[in-house]
Amino acid sequence: MGPGAPQGTTTVAAVLGAPVRHSMSPALCNAAFDAAGLDWVYVAFEVDESHAAAAVAAVRTLQLGGASVTMPLKAAVVDHVDRADDDVRALGAANCLWWDGDVLCASSTDGPGFVASLRDHDVSLAGRRVVVLGAGGAARAVVRASALEGAADVAVVNRTATRAEEAASLAGAAGRVAGIEAIADAEVVVNATSIGMDGTGGAGTSPLPSRALRDGQVVVDLVYHPLATPLLRDAAAVGATAIDGIGMLVHQAALAFEHWTGEPAPIDAMHAAARRAP
Ligand code: NAP
Repeated sequence: MGPGAPQGTTTVAAVLGAPVRHSMSPALCNAAFDAAGLDWVYVAFEVDESHAAAAVAAVRTLQLGGASVTMPLKAAVVDHVDRADDDVRALGAANCLWWDGDVLCASSTDGPGFVASLRDHDVSLAGRRVVVLGAGGAARAVVRASALEGAADVAVVNRTATRAEEAASLAGAAGRVAGIEAIADAEVVVNATSIGMDGTGGAGTSPLPSRALRDGQVVVDLVYHPLATPLLRDAAAVGATAIDGIGMLVHQAALAFEHWTGEPAPIDAMHAAARRAP
């Protein structure tokens, strides 16, 4: 926890949401503060949606150095900050609160974090045909980021059609709602559903039939519990490039770190902490 125990001088950052007791963010961010030699500490505050306004007020009153925001507060905090960035305004949700002088700002680092995680694998979205499975918060960020990166086609495949339409609209002219047959022509396939995630009904399963994927595709699974999902195993088996969810997790946190501290994030230390976390 930082370079020693917290002192009177220590700056506190926190994740706000519920449940957060098992969040990976404290391990990730404390490793980052430690590696950067900063007198900061990162803790988890369990806050329900009805207390969103009070939680943002507490960030101001207690002069937190910054905050991560997770479910169920991502939308609820937006009305209580001084400034929201373009991503937050488009998505209606924020995952990061930070100070620009004395102005409390809200950003959404999921989309840029996703793009940065692909860059680590030399994957660009410009001109690519992308399929996004899911239409929740993560999917919406990926759809918008894909369009901003210049994807030629962003097809959203989701169980609930109305949510698919809303998500696809975030990609403007490049966005559309599609069925699973869109996978055949896709160059990049992103699982942004919770299927495959431990602790859910979909644990141990894939969102796609095992033969849906093919050689040459880039397949990204945003699920990071576990890292080796059935979807990624199927992708590797057909010769596709398989990318797990840890890169996006690390990069969205790294971008938050940079907002908070104004310093470059120690990405390698954050990757190592994420891979060590239970
Ligand atoms: P969310 O808002 O609850 O959305 C969940 C999505 O999954 C919805 O589109 C939902 O479809 C779909 N879904 C869930 N169960 C399904 C099932 N049995 N069959 C078909 N569709 C199903 O969740 P989220 O916040 O977007 O997170 C989604 C996943 O991404 C989670 O596993 C989360 O851990 C992961 N994630 C990873 C990162 C990262 O940095 N790697 C960041 C954010 C999220 P409906 O719309 O039909 O309900």
